[in-house]
Amino acid sequence: MESKSARAFSLAQQYIPGGVNSPARAFAGVGGGPPFMSHGQGAHLFDIDGREYIDYVCSWGPLLFGHAQPRVVAALKEACDRGTSFGAPTQIETELARQVAALVPGIDMVRMVNSGTEATMSAVRLARGYSGRDKLIKFEGCWHGHGDSFLIKAGSSALTLGAPDSPGVPQGVAADTITLPYNDLDAVAEAVAQNQGQVAAIIVEPIAGNMGLVPPQPGFLPGLRQLATDHDIVLIFDEVITGFRVGPGGAQERFGVIPDLTCLGKIVGGGLPVGAYGGKRALMEHLLPVGQISQAGTLSGNPLAMTAGLAQLTMLAEDGVYQRLEEKAQKLADGMRYNLEKLGLDYQVEQIGGMLCLFFTATPIVDFTSVVTADTEAFKRYFWACLEGGVYLAPSQYECMFLSLAHSDQDIEQTLQVQYQALQAAH
Ligand SMILES: *Cc1c(COP(=O)(O)O)cnc(C)c1O
Repeated sequence: MESKSARAFSLAQQYIPGGVNSPARAFAGVGGGPPFMSHGQGAHLFDIDGREYIDYVCSWGPLLFGHAQPRVVAALKEACDRGTSFGAPTQIETELARQVAALVPGIDMVRMVNSGTEATMSAVRLARGYSGRDKLIKFEGCWHGHGDSFLIKAGSSALTLGAPDSPGVPQGVAADTITLPYNDLDAVAEAVAQNQGQVAAIIVEPIAGNMGLVPPQPGFLPGLRQLATDHDIVLIFDEVITGFRVGPGGAQERFGVIPDLTCLGKIVGGGLPVGAYGGKRALMEHLLPVGQISQAGTLSGNPLAMTAGLAQLTMLAEDGVYQRLEEKAQKLADGMRYNLEKLGLDYQVEQIGGMLCLFFTATPIVDFTSVVTADTEAFKRYFWACLEGGVYLAPSQYECMFLSLAHSDQDIEQTLQVQYQALQAAH
């Protein structure tokens, strides 16, 4: 009998391109159709066929405390009763901005937008407007949302769906984007020298999280900081994933390297559509209406979105949260390594804070080139076996697993059992 999800997917495909509002959800990277979800509770997801999963997608990162977290839900219900949007200032916007500035070292002032994509596009415009230069340096395999400038050798969805450069990006825009290998500081120094006085910004995921998980090599982030400072280039950390995931102050706090601008998204919205970008006052005050650089939004700073974000940020600032998250993630990563060893598989497991990735390759992971050595066919078999066993992973080798504080020891132990069998099934 055809499942309800299969029927729902067929219907969706009649009205929505590919049946999805974001390509990765279509499961194209693993073949077959996605389960349609009914609801979530804590670390668990339930589909419309009544199947239950331990969720390691967590809405692709935002749900640091799991689904339908009672404090977030209660705050939202209360906010709903007061009205869903005003298009006028509210105090909750200042409260969230204040909280973000208190937690993230590089942020004194912050603008709220509606997605991570908007945050990165706006940050780059600010960098260009401020510097009077056009060129942008980015890194192969990093994903900064779907802004034109970024759709050149971008990460996960591009990787999974085999479209490294999107049609529809004007040549002029593409020509202003310089794409370099991740972790290759010499390549950056060379590009900066060759484009003297023309580079507005360097944008980087301080921990790459969109080609699986690629940690920065020692010296890479400090080296970028030095080059940017020496050449008056705006250094932008895209912390849309890492912000509030690898620590309360993100990767910049963890590695002690402070960018000029920081982009946030995902966790900052507590599961509602929020992005944000911020930095030093002197830079941020180049934005309208104080300065001349344009950026606006009808629903930016939306009271429901701010409420969800603030509820989650308040919780994550409480004692011991990141220690518990790290312990859970380490337990999962160690368990995976143990399983691999038992099966005689020499695969790479990367883990930092509440994000991790199992790469189906023995090649050490440093950049895009090493990442794509992964055996994606084996990953597909593993993925379906995990799903069958009730473990919901992102449907691509090139995505991270995201943990939440709602994942219990029992969830993790059950996951490891399922993974062991799935790894066997994959080989
Ligand atoms: C998800 C993501 C974005 C884009 O955010 P959206 O809210 O999907 O537009 C940008 N940068 C990074 C690093 C991301 O992971």
